[in-house]
Amino acid sequence: MEPQIKALPPFSFCAEWKIVGAASHDSFVEGSKMTNLKLVGLEKKERTIVPVGTVRFGEALVLIGGPCSVESEEQTVETAVAVKEAGGDMLRGGAFKPRTSPYAFQGLGLVGLKILAKAREVSGLPFVTEVLDTRDVSWVAEFADMIQIGARNMQNFSLLKEVGKLQKPILLKRGMHSTIEEWLNCAEYILNEGNPNVVLCERGIRSFETYTRNTFDLSAVPAAKELSHLPVITDPTHGTGRISLIEPMSLASIAAGSDGLILEVHRNPAEALSDKDQALTPQAFGTIVRKVRAMEKFMKELT
Ligand code: PEP
Ligand code: MN
Repeated sequence: MEPQIKALPPFSFCAEWKIVGAASHDSFVEGSKMTNLKLVGLEKKERTIVPVGTVRFGEALVLIGGPCSVESEEQTVETAVAVKEAGGDMLRGGAFKPRTSPYAFQGLGLVGLKILAKAREVSGLPFVTEVLDTRDVSWVAEFADMIQIGARNMQNFSLLKEVGKLQKPILLKRGMHSTIEEWLNCAEYILNEGNPNVVLCERGIRSFETYTRNTFDLSAVPAAKELSHLPVITDPTHGTGRISLIEPMSLASIAAGSDGLILEVHRNPAEALSDKDQALTPQAFGTIVRKVRAMEKFMKELT
């Protein structure tokens, strides 16, 4: 049978498309009028400070360093001590890893949490670690000083509600396909359950660019800060995926008003079981710490 050729759409149909285009543009322009952010919006006048042990997000720069994944006690403890010696404030490390392939290293789970607790004991640094599943929230909270909701789970509303029932500080990463409005609404979910201790983290979004792992959206930092009272930090490691770009984007983050950085550090990057191409050596991390602290001082003098 001959395929039926549909008539071209009439002019009015094309006009409708124009209207749709105009409407979506309007919603972009109206970004600053986000009205449903009852708790994370600026109705609260003073900026929120989120304490994690002796570290206080929103008060002074918080620099977090550590491996993408917890691989062994030796690797994690050694890295934690190096991060501390380099001037870091907190340790990061994944015990549950959200991996693209089910055959890639998935993390050590409970063993990984125990290793992180040991690294905290030895280094004195509090740690942040990711939770992937609502069923793990309560016991991960028993170990961790701060819980990360990663980019892939930003809109996992069950997980947001579950961590919202705790008082434990939450690091909420921006989803890789999410608008600033969607990200802030996810923070709203957590506050709405009763947990006010949320720190936002810009970690890059997907675009057509392939040179960088993600497109690091630095404008999201001042944007989130003019829309919300919550502290905002950045992750130039996942934001760029390239060692050479981490230092400049770390400095740029501070200039953009970021309250801190989370960076991947490995004692021997070539051996890392995940994200080895973007892991800093402890020495490179130390250089960034020194430069961003100088940048923080410079920014204070400017204002
Ligand atoms: C991570 O920090 O280990 C991680 C997986 O980051 P993201 O969720 O931003 O990809
Ligand atoms: Mn990683």
